[in-house]
Amino acid sequence: MNTTVLGYPRIGGRRELKKATEAYWEGRAGAAELAETAAGLRRETWETLREAGVGLIPSNTFSLYDQMLDTSVMVDAVPDRFRHLRGLDAYFAMARGAEGVAPLEMTKWFDTNYHYIVPEAGPGTRFRLADGARAKPLAEYGEARALGIETRPVLVGPLTYLLLSKPEPGAPDGFRPLDLLDSLVEVYAELLERLAGAGAEWVQLDEPALAADRTPGELAALRRAYDRLAGLPSRPRLLVSTCFGEIGEALPVLAATRVEAIGLDLVAGPGNREALGAIGGIGAKTLVAGVVDGRNVWRADLNAAMAGCASLLGLAAELVVSTSCSLMHVPLDLDAETGPDGGGLDPRLAGRLAFARQKAGEVVLIGRALREGRDAIAGHLTGPAPDGEFVNARVRARLDALGDGTARRDHAERRRAQLDLPPLPTTTIGSFPQTAGVRRARADHRAGRIDDTAYEAVMRTEIDRVLALQEDIGLDVLVHGEPERNDMVQYFAERLDGYAHTVHGWVQSYGSRYVRPPILFGDVSRPEPMTVPWTTYAQSRTTRPVKGMLTGPVTMLAWSFVRTDQPLAETARQVALALREEIRDLEAAGIRVIQVDEPALRELLPLRRAGHAAYLDWAVGAFRLATCGAAASTQIHTHMCYSEFGEIIDAIGALDADVASVEAARSRMELLADLNTAGYRQSIGPGVYDIHSPRVPGVAEMEEALRRALRAVDADRLWVNPDCGLKTRAYGEVEPALRNMVAAARRVRETL
Ligand code: GLN
Ligand code: ZN
Repeated sequence: MNTTVLGYPRIGGRRELKKATEAYWEGRAGAAELAETAAGLRRETWETLREAGVGLIPSNTFSLYDQMLDTSVMVDAVPDRFRHLRGLDAYFAMARGAEGVAPLEMTKWFDTNYHYIVPEAGPGTRFRLADGARAKPLAEYGEARALGIETRPVLVGPLTYLLLSKPEPGAPDGFRPLDLLDSLVEVYAELLERLAGAGAEWVQLDEPALAADRTPGELAALRRAYDRLAGLPSRPRLLVSTCFGEIGEALPVLAATRVEAIGLDLVAGPGNREALGAIGGIGAKTLVAGVVDGRNVWRADLNAAMAGCASLLGLAAELVVSTSCSLMHVPLDLDAETGPDGGGLDPRLAGRLAFARQKAGEVVLIGRALREGRDAIAGHLTGPAPDGEFVNARVRARLDALGDGTARRDHAERRRAQLDLPPLPTTTIGSFPQTAGVRRARADHRAGRIDDTAYEAVMRTEIDRVLALQEDIGLDVLVHGEPERNDMVQYFAERLDGYAHTVHGWVQSYGSRYVRPPILFGDVSRPEPMTVPWTTYAQSRTTRPVKGMLTGPVTMLAWSFVRTDQPLAETARQVALALREEIRDLEAAGIRVIQVDEPALRELLPLRRAGHAAYLDWAVGAFRLATCGAAASTQIHTHMCYSEFGEIIDAIGALDADVASVEAARSRMELLADLNTAGYRQSIGPGVYDIHSPRVPGVAEMEEALRRALRAVDADRLWVNPDCGLKTRAYGEVEPALRNMVAAARRVRETL
């Protein structure tokens, strides 16, 4: 009964990787220093796993930026525009851009908060094993071996790599990167042979794309790729690992290939167990059973995991106890929180948590129990959590009393009751640039270097400045600018009961950008108003309407670690109730426009279509529960920062906000036609300029965007706004851009 983990955090316990890469980018350190830090981090990982007693240790789970980018470089899928650069310069330019060269796109890795660098491929792409014998997986395998640690190199599988690639700009219509599979597989074949030559016994090929719906053609491609690789005369044993859900039709396909092991996620994909039974097991193969959750921070129920593994015993020749996915999605080490410079988590909560290092330990314990019997780990078995430990009876009673609570007056009636604004009203999405002074004041306040009064004075001065600027620019609906918020989820999580926070619990979001997701562990409630003082202060300083600004329930869950002892839908209702109370208080304080942001609505959408309807039902229900207590006269806005709504297009209308602002500038307002088709009838603010770029858009271009929008939307339903918050931009860009935006709106108004 062996044990393994599918991957491990690579950023270091003190964010060493971030510091080293940023120092390199800024020229404060050279390539040699970066390489040294990287080697130290790899060594620490291997040694930690060895000390924990993990039987099969992975390598090549490290990356200076991203494993998909590593793969692109490894197979020489480097677009021409980067070819004049070499080595690390080319590598980082692909991720971050360089002088005159746009970076590759970045997007979310399945349903996680990790972002990968999207490969580009075209009919002319010629894959080859760049660097040959010095290719990264070979180098890292050799590095571990030199330390006396035998490892299993981990690769992004060829199918997943191509399914996540996009056609290069200018590729002919109908070209699909998957068309290049056979040539890519030959590169993998060469690599596998070299790894075997270097001594590798096992190689892991990650194919998370199998957890999403796949066409028969894609399944045939899967079959072809692994028949070829498994047919190599001299190669390591192959583990095809999957994660993030059920692999459905792909299971019999993989089972029919001659790979030696299949990895299944039994946490996010409990149905994988039945599917395995339904095909009568995988015969002579090894099953790598992902029973320890790699996506969340809760301790495993060892008894349940043991029983689960025991029930799998007859279904494969051998069983390896594993994590459900790479541990890179959880923080590194819980001990950092409970140690001397930790944040002092409530011990009752800390006792229920496990981060990456603890999870590796759990895998080892389960393996030991299965080998030696349950008694061998008796000291580690904890009883079930005490009932009702983090229960809030008041919240539960209030939700019961509310019942459905998701109905509002009809649109026409609301519109009559709401603020009277000029046609094509202008507004922004909420945040204004966060100046060094604002950030410093927040940090000083947090560290106790300035008191509440001094802090509030800085924030009020900032709010005054931002309001005066907006009045001067001539915007119609103002915002207070969010200077008090470090992060749109963390700000609220810190003000809600039921959420906890870590000090060192960083998780890589992309490159050197890490996040510290709050932990939603108990019933959520709002001890006191969260935004009312700032918003009412702002409203007291201007005669124009100020828009209150809240983060929606789905986003509050999506960017946190969330309890698993009740359905997400139930947890979402609790967050919604807190927001509903906040909206009531904002209304009572005279606020007439309130925006509830849901940028993560699409992100939690299940990977398989079969789960969409149930998800959207609770997600939309939670948003409505939060907002439908508002009076008809309160104008509810929502904001989502993307334009590819696809499967959730109907949900925008179902949210029943009065105004939705979305991204549209880059896609030239095409979304509006889709919204019409979907029967969307409320007002819409299609972002008229892209805030993700420092470029200041001209008046004519935004005027043109508005005129294009007016072809799809009546003037009395159209709002004018940028496509997201302005917090990451500088005033030097924001001010002229907003002036031009208001000028564009005025020009169009004159011709209505
Ligand atoms: N109100 C938030 C802001 O303007 C919205 C951020 C977002 O959509 N991601 O910053
Ligand atoms: Zn946004």
